[in-house]
Amino acid sequence: MTISEPKGIRGGEILRGKDLPAAQSADRPHPARDLSLLGVAAPLPAGVREVQALKLLHDLKSRFRALIVYLDTCTKCGACIEACHWYLGTNDPYNVPAARVDLMRGVYKKHFTPGGRLFGRLAGARELTGDMLELWYKYFYQCNECRRCAYFCPFGIDTAEVTIAARQILTQIGMVPAGIMSVAKNMRQSGNNMGIPEKAIRNIASFMEGELKQKTGKDIPIPVDREGAEVLHIPSSSEFYVTLDTLEGTAIMFYAAGTSWTLSSRIIETANFGLFFDHAAMKAHNNLLFEEARRLRVKRIVAGECGHGWRTWRMFSSRLSPATSDIPVVHTIDESLKYLEQGRIRFDRSANPQPVTLHDPCNMARAAGYVEQPRRVLGAVAGQFIEMYPNREKNFCCAGGSGQVTMDEMALLKARAGLVKAQQVKATGARWLVAPCAICKAELPRLMEHYGLDVEVHGLQDLVGYAAVL
Ligand code: SF4
Ligand code: SF4
Repeated sequence: MTISEPKGIRGGEILRGKDLPAAQSADRPHPARDLSLLGVAAPLPAGVREVQALKLLHDLKSRFRALIVYLDTCTKCGACIEACHWYLGTNDPYNVPAARVDLMRGVYKKHFTPGGRLFGRLAGARELTGDMLELWYKYFYQCNECRRCAYFCPFGIDTAEVTIAARQILTQIGMVPAGIMSVAKNMRQSGNNMGIPEKAIRNIASFMEGELKQKTGKDIPIPVDREGAEVLHIPSSSEFYVTLDTLEGTAIMFYAAGTSWTLSSRIIETANFGLFFDHAAMKAHNNLLFEEARRLRVKRIVAGECGHGWRTWRMFSSRLSPATSDIPVVHTIDESLKYLEQGRIRFDRSANPQPVTLHDPCNMARAAGYVEQPRRVLGAVAGQFIEMYPNREKNFCCAGGSGQVTMDEMALLKARAGLVKAQQVKATGARWLVAPCAICKAELPRLMEHYGLDVEVHGLQDLVGYAAVL
C-alpha cells in the first residue's frame, strides 16, 4: 500500500522520517492464526461472524450504559478532529475520532434505533457487513485508546471506550492481532508479556545484582520470592531484558530507603493487556497479582512503570478483585515521593546533568491523574528539566499505546501517528526523554530513530537510581 507523506502538524516543524520496507507498511495488524487461547479453532466464517457481532453489540449496549451515551451523543462539532495524533499524522478522515466512533454508531443506529431502521443512511445508519467488520478491524486498531479526544469533546465522548468495546467484539469473533495474542499467550504461560521463564527471572535478577555492585560498590539486593517482605514490587517484564536501568533504579531506591522488598517469580508484569481487548483477561491478570501478594505475605504492592497497568490498578482493581483489594497498591513514583518527604532518601541532581523533558503517558496523565507527581520526582533528581508542549492531560500519545507497540508490521503508519510526538520532543531541545511507562519506553526510541532525533529515552526510575546518594 502507499501512504502519502504527512503534511505536518499545523504550527509545528515538518520532520521527515526515514524509508521503511514494505513489510512494515501494513495499514492494519496481521491477524492471529492460532486462537486456541480464546477456545476457538478459527475465526468465525463470513455470514456467521456478522450475526454474532450484532449479538455481542446488543449484549454490550445492554450492560454498558456509557457506550449508549457515546453512540447517541455527537453533534459533529469537530472539536475532536485535531485532538487525535492519528488524524494529524495520517490525514485519513476515518482517523477523526468522531468518524471512528461512527463506524460503530452507524451499526447501532441501523439495528437498535427506530430512526435508523426507518430512515437508514439518511439517519447515518450502516449495515454490519463483512466489509464493515474489516473497517472496524483496521480503524479500531489505528486508535491508541489514549483518550485525548475525550478531553476536548464538549460531551466527553470517550472514543477509547468505544474502541475497547469494538475490540471485545472483534476478539470474540476471532479477529485479533497476532501481536496482542502472542503477548496474551506469554502471559498465560509464564506470567509476563515477554515469556521469561522462572529460572531466567532468577538469573537476570542475580546478574543485575552484580551490575549494581560494579556501578555502586554496594551489595544491593534484587530478591525473588522473599516471603514476609514489606513490599511486593511488580515491574514490567521489559525491565529484565531491555530497560534494566529502571529495575536497577527501583532496587537502589528501596536499598537507600531501607525497605525490604521482593519480586515474584510467578508474575513480573504490571502491564495488563486485558485492558485493550478483553475484561475477562484483565481480571485474570489482576487476580494473579493479588494472589501473589497474599502468598508472599507482603504489606503492600508497589507497581512499576507501565501506564495502562497503572490505569488498571487505579480504575479497575477494586471492582475486578473485591475480595483481595484490601492490599494497598501504590506506584514507584508515590514511593519515591514518600521517601523524599520522610527524609529517607537523598539525591544528587548533578548526577543527571543532561537537559531532560517528560513525556506524560496517556494512561498515567489523562486516565489516572498522575501529572504533578512525576514532575516533583524530576525536580528532585534532574539537573535541568524542560517542559514539552502541550503537556500533562493534553500531552500526545507516543503511538505505541493499546497494544500497537507489538505491531511491527504497522511501523510506518505508527511513525506517521507519532509525528506530532517527535515534533514536541524536538522543540524542547532536550537530550533525554523521560517516560515512566514500559510501552512508551519501547515505542519512543523507534520514533526518535525514525525522525533522526539524537534523544535517549529513559524511565523515571533510571534517574532516581542514578541520582540516589548511597
Ligand atoms: S468533539 Fe465530541 S461531539 Fe464534537 S464531533 Fe467530536 S465526538 Fe462529536
Ligand atoms: S483515543 Fe486517542 S487515538 Fe483514539 S481516536 Fe481518541 S485521540 Fe485518537
